[in-house]
Amino acid sequence: MHVSGKKVLVTGGSRGIGRAVVLGLARAGADVITCSRSENEFATGLAAELKEIPGEHHVVRADVTSADDVAALIDECRVRFGRLDAIVNNAGVISHVPFAELDLDEWRRVVDSNLTAAARIIQAALPLLGAGASVVNVGSRVATVGIPLRAHYTAAKSGLIGLTRSLAKELGPRGIRINVVAPGPIQTETETPPAVLQRYQSMIPLGRLGRPDEIATAVQFLASDQASFINGEVLNVDGGI
Ligand code: NDP
Repeated sequence: MHVSGKKVLVTGGSRGIGRAVVLGLARAGADVITCSRSENEFATGLAAELKEIPGEHHVVRADVTSADDVAALIDECRVRFGRLDAIVNNAGVISHVPFAELDLDEWRRVVDSNLTAAARIIQAALPLLGAGASVVNVGSRVATVGIPLRAHYTAAKSGLIGLTRSLAKELGPRGIRINVVAPGPIQTETETPPAVLQRYQSMIPLGRLGRPDEIATAVQFLASDQASFINGEVLNVDGGI
């Protein structure tokens, strides 16, 4: 996939799917700036790993729910890269709460992190996005099928699809593409309890959880020039659920 030389911003790259996206893009020749909310061992470990990969890569701390942090993050992209060829809105949070107990603060935290942050990042980055640029929003397969205890999360991820479809039409005339990758259950560093694992395995025709690199490959494809006529699409990567 042709991403060599591309300047890319990936949010939430320190661990999980984002980390696989960052490492995949960097190994394929892209220059990558990524952020995480906290400066922890995941972020420092990623920075060390990226040092071994040719190209210009940076791991910074930025909370994508903070307007000031987003402004500083995009400014860092402008100063270091001068442009962005791709943005991957990957940062997200989830919680499992019965709807009757879901308070407004938790609703806002989840919607801000999964939806509003992506809109804010794209809007702030518009001056850096030229013809040929690609935005990939990481959604979730459950957005379109629903799941108990995740009303706030699925509402936010469904909103991401609406945002994507509208911006595909609004930014398409400028040559900017925008798509969603919707992962099914993925095995990240976060441990999956055995009972949950068993339920997922029985739901997924391929009989296993996905790997972060399997999401990263789909993201990389949509960010690449090979996907040059794909716009406003939702690509499910879920083992066939
Ligand atoms: P993880 O929880 O493993 O990692 C999340 C990453 O996002 C971390 O780097 C975290 O940084 C960062 N992050 C979270 N909130 C913020 C914030 N406000 N500002 C900056 N960075 C932030 O997530 P996953 O890899 O599991 O998920 C990645 C994406 O994929 C999410 O959008 C998620 O909804 C989606 N997804 C995941 C699935 C799965 O099975 N794992 C399934 C379907 C969709 P820090 O370490 O500092 O908190």
